[in-house]
Amino acid sequence: MSALAPPPASRTLGASGIAISPLAWGMWRLAENGRGAGDAARLVHAALDAGITLLDTADIYGFDGTRGFGDAEALLGEVLASQPGLRGRMVLATKGGIRPPLPYDQSPGYLRSAIEASLRRLRTDTIDLYQIHRPDILAHPQEVARVLDDAVASGKVRALGVSNFSPSQIEALGHFLGHELAATQPEISPLRIDCFANGELDQALRLGLTPLAWSPLGGGRLLAPADGREQAVADVLDRVAGEHGVSRSVAAYGWLMVHPAGIVPIVGSQDAGRIAEAAQALGMRWTRQDWYAVLAAARGAPLP
Ligand code: NAP
Repeated sequence: MSALAPPPASRTLGASGIAISPLAWGMWRLAENGRGAGDAARLVHAALDAGITLLDTADIYGFDGTRGFGDAEALLGEVLASQPGLRGRMVLATKGGIRPPLPYDQSPGYLRSAIEASLRRLRTDTIDLYQIHRPDILAHPQEVARVLDDAVASGKVRALGVSNFSPSQIEALGHFLGHELAATQPEISPLRIDCFANGELDQALRLGLTPLAWSPLGGGRLLAPADGREQAVADVLDRVAGEHGVSRSVAAYGWLMVHPAGIVPIVGSQDAGRIAEAAQALGMRWTRQDWYAVLAAARGAPLP
């Protein structure tokens, strides 16, 4: 059985010209468990040392329902302030547009202030990728586009992305944007396969958007399957992982990475060893048969 093409060792973020690693590291959980700037620095180094240069955060990361808005960005900002050389080694992605308790706000005044606040907390002059975190149904995409275009024109943002947008919401925003969208960030994992059939990845292929997969291990559920379907997915991944001498989580990243849209899994672990281990996914060689076996298990039904 011939192997599918391996993921390229580096690629560009959409058509932005910004070189990125084929895996990203995410900081959703960074500001948990009392982690301080020292812990954050150790994890940033673990990612960079593993060749993972795309780092994903958001202004809302750290918010616990009451407080903590901005905490994950601020932690990373502390790391960047104490080790200024790190900034040039990473592609820094963040997000805004969720404003508790509203819950969403992409009105021009707020969105402009959110970009400024992220820059301040991150202690940087430029955000490499600014993403709208979830769509604000009450914001006209033309107004959102104007704020985003202005942010690029002023040099505060280098590339633009969206997260949790439907294909038609991406189309509407893209229609009004002067700068092309570079990335989209849906939830994708062997447990969450909607985007393989709902048009999101087809659109990414057509528009040249880089898909960044959030919760590539189902938020950790893949490591603790909760029902028969999840266990079946884990079993197929374990078989393929065993044949490659890698772990189930590495096999899950590898499974996502062979999709022709060039899916970039965002590793969510805050454990230095697990972040380093993720890079093994680049060495996997998937066969078409094994890839579809995972998909069939995830569907819970054979393919037609
Ligand atoms: P994930 O990789 O699906 O799950 C990570 C969780 O699994 C961590 O709590 C990790 O714990 C746990 N885990 C248990 N065993 C593991 C193993 N063997 N290897 C790796 N992890 C293991 O990712 P996620 O944290 O849910 O999300 C990843 C990133 O996606 C976030 O950081 C964020 O950047 C992005 N995200 C975006 C959105 C959005 O709306 N755009 C939403 C959610 C997430 P340990 O830390 O102890 O390893």
